[in-house]
Amino acid sequence: MNLHEYQARALLERYGIPFPPAEVATTPAEARAIAQRLGGPVVVKAQVHAGGRGKAGGVQVAPDPEAAGAAAARILQLTIKGLAVHRVLVAPATDIAAETYMGVIVDRASQRPLLMVSAAGGVDIEEVAATAPERIHRVSVDPRYGLLPHQATALAFGAYADRGHARAAAQIMQQLYTAVYGVGASLAEINPLATTPDGRLLALDAKIVIDDNELDQRPEIAALRDPTADTPAEARARAAGLSFLKLSGSVGCCVNGAGLAMATMDLVKHYGGEPANFLDIGGSSSPGKVVAALEIITSDPAVKAILFNIFGGITRCDDVAQGIVQATAHVSLRVPLVIRLTGTNDRQAVEILTGAGFAALTDMDDAVRRAVALAAGAA
Ligand code: GDP
Ligand code: MN
Repeated sequence: MNLHEYQARALLERYGIPFPPAEVATTPAEARAIAQRLGGPVVVKAQVHAGGRGKAGGVQVAPDPEAAGAAAARILQLTIKGLAVHRVLVAPATDIAAETYMGVIVDRASQRPLLMVSAAGGVDIEEVAATAPERIHRVSVDPRYGLLPHQATALAFGAYADRGHARAAAQIMQQLYTAVYGVGASLAEINPLATTPDGRLLALDAKIVIDDNELDQRPEIAALRDPTADTPAEARARAAGLSFLKLSGSVGCCVNGAGLAMATMDLVKHYGGEPANFLDIGGSSSPGKVVAALEIITSDPAVKAILFNIFGGITRCDDVAQGIVQATAHVSLRVPLVIRLTGTNDRQAVEILTGAGFAALTDMDDAVRRAVALAAGAA
């Protein structure tokens, strides 16, 4: 689960990490009033679940309350990476002498938390990782001992030449590491961790991703979920109980089971296509889920063909076939549909589908090849 910056900074403040004061506004008038209260120049920042807000015009410095209201009005109109902006954060603009990156992720490869710092902060850390990986300093932490003081200090000297700054950074690392376990995060980042001209360290942006498996134990964190932050397709999928992730390709995929969904996406790529989404309709296959899945997939204008790949086990192929027939009665299909079903009740499924004028395949390679060709514009 993603948190907004304003939520992440509130959590991290509890662990002692220093942030400038800030307040949230939902209207330009509110933003102007906050700027008035804070006094002096402010920064107005879009609160959406996306990085790179600065580059998208979602972070603007305003010299006075009037300008803060105007900046908020502009930012509240923006759509950043498909996400509408419903709120802005207003904080005093900080003078920045240097920007550092600091982050903790749970690293699956080493099965340990990995702490990272880089003096190349402020910009996209993914870009630094790709073009200048030597500029990111890392330490893998043994969770039995926690982050040891000498590890934090050594890492801090990778990003700070000044001893005082390095000690302050080492303390913030300890606080960030403690926060990760405290809130159940799989990722926590401060970027930038600014050094001010008078030599203080101040966090100017925070990102936290909560491990969904930790939410049951932390109702107060689960309550931070913002249903308005999802794209309409994601919100619809969540309500229907589907696991859905939008991707950038043109082959819409509707599959039962996460493993088969991933195998299907691999095969789409293998035959030269690009999946438009990951979509797992899950083990049960009520026709309602299939209807929701088809609506979500067809609402994506990038989708040029839809591929159903169903392996019937607990999921019954005839249920899925009924769902397809029902769904296509509601949703007009503007793209071709390729259906592959095998397993429980597949013979009945084929009867239902052919009766409704659909072709049904049983071979996975066949079906994927056909969907890729149709998405590419083949007749
Ligand atoms: P992101 O682009 O989504 O990561 O948003 P950030 O909050 O990290 O802001 C992007 C950039 O805007 C930062 O790296 C800073 O360079 C700049 N910025 C953010 N807050 C302030 C501020 O208070 N003062 C100044 N001068 N720049 C800021
Ligand atoms: Mn940032």
